[in-house]
Amino acid sequence: MNAAPATVPASEGEDYYDKLGVTKIINAAGTYTALTASIMPPSVQAAVARAAKHPVRLAELQKAAGEYLAQKLRCEAALVSAGAASALTLGTAACLTVANKCNIRDIPTEVPRMKNEVLIQKGHRYGYDQAVLCCGVRFVEVETLQQYESAFSAKTVMALFYNAAEAGEISREDWIRVAHKHGVPCFNDAAADVPPISNLWNYTAMGFDLVTFSGGKGMRGPQNAGLLLGRKDLMMAAAANNNPFDGVGRGMKVAKDQIVGMVAAVDWFLSQTDAGLEAEFRRRADRIAAQLKDIPSLKPEVVIPPLANHVPHLLLRYDQARVKISPREVMFELRKGTPSIELNPSTGSATGASAGIPADVNTIVVGVWMLEPGEELIVGRRLHEVLAKATRA
Ligand SMILES: *Cc1c(COP(=O)(O)O)cnc(C)c1O
Repeated sequence: MNAAPATVPASEGEDYYDKLGVTKIINAAGTYTALTASIMPPSVQAAVARAAKHPVRLAELQKAAGEYLAQKLRCEAALVSAGAASALTLGTAACLTVANKCNIRDIPTEVPRMKNEVLIQKGHRYGYDQAVLCCGVRFVEVETLQQYESAFSAKTVMALFYNAAEAGEISREDWIRVAHKHGVPCFNDAAADVPPISNLWNYTAMGFDLVTFSGGKGMRGPQNAGLLLGRKDLMMAAAANNNPFDGVGRGMKVAKDQIVGMVAAVDWFLSQTDAGLEAEFRRRADRIAAQLKDIPSLKPEVVIPPLANHVPHLLLRYDQARVKISPREVMFELRKGTPSIELNPSTGSATGASAGIPADVNTIVVGVWMLEPGEELIVGRRLHEVLAKATRA
């Protein structure tokens, strides 16, 4: 895919990846941040390019985008954040501001002297919780429902739930019910949990006071954008902590064209159907598998993880006595080749790389949902080349 088309219309601009010598890849992995997540659909790219041409008043754009999104996504209020991680920070800052009636400049330095406890299940601790801790709060970990009930104190400001957690025995319903009994807001991090499309309103409808989704994952918006959705008073406090104000969110700027891009991505995503998306991803998986029919012992399987990356993934397993190459080596071969292809990082991994995606050392995992039209044929061809060669070896 590095071959430039014969004529490039001036409107498309110069190819700075080529100019900088940066390799364009085929993403057969998924919505990984390190692989620049998703590609915006054409309608979203066009909306971004158009919005980039005009200055506007930032406050007016933030307010209008928020109101539009809240109406479409059936929640009280919405904000375009600089990704889900920034929404975690802004939501935490909001809960601190409301509980302590403090100044935004008190976060994080004065927080140790305030109400500052965030409840979380031990099995929900994850890398992204640093985005909560950067507000100066402290986690109180619980495991059982009984521990949760008795963990609330005069210092509790928020109860955080990691939606795709594979551990943790307390349900969403109990998490909300008990917190609300104590008047404490609940935050659900559902960053990677669309599709299904309806999750965009399911969790606020369930009673979560704050919910975040990453903009650059399943919704295919700008990679530096995300959504914070929820209760009006908390969302106003989140906006007060956000840029252009000099609080903890000052560095979490979303450019005007990216705010517009996030709104356009929501419009694009709401124009899709779960069945339509699934059918297209299955078609891609089937097309790749069809190209590998003559590889001895190879067995393709299509799986849909239950939550997070909830789309068809193609798994390939084979007898390594007959096809003499490990899945990990196949991954390196595809990365080295031209065009360079990234398979899902769970490929050949004993521990897995993502919630819900099956993984073991003997399985190749092909993520098909971030492929551009036609790229499944290139992925199938390269897999065939590498596996057929290993069969002859
Ligand atoms: C991806 C992800 C994030 C971070 O999202 P960004 O939009 O990249 O900031 C946070 N939480 C979870 C569970 C995620 O999967």
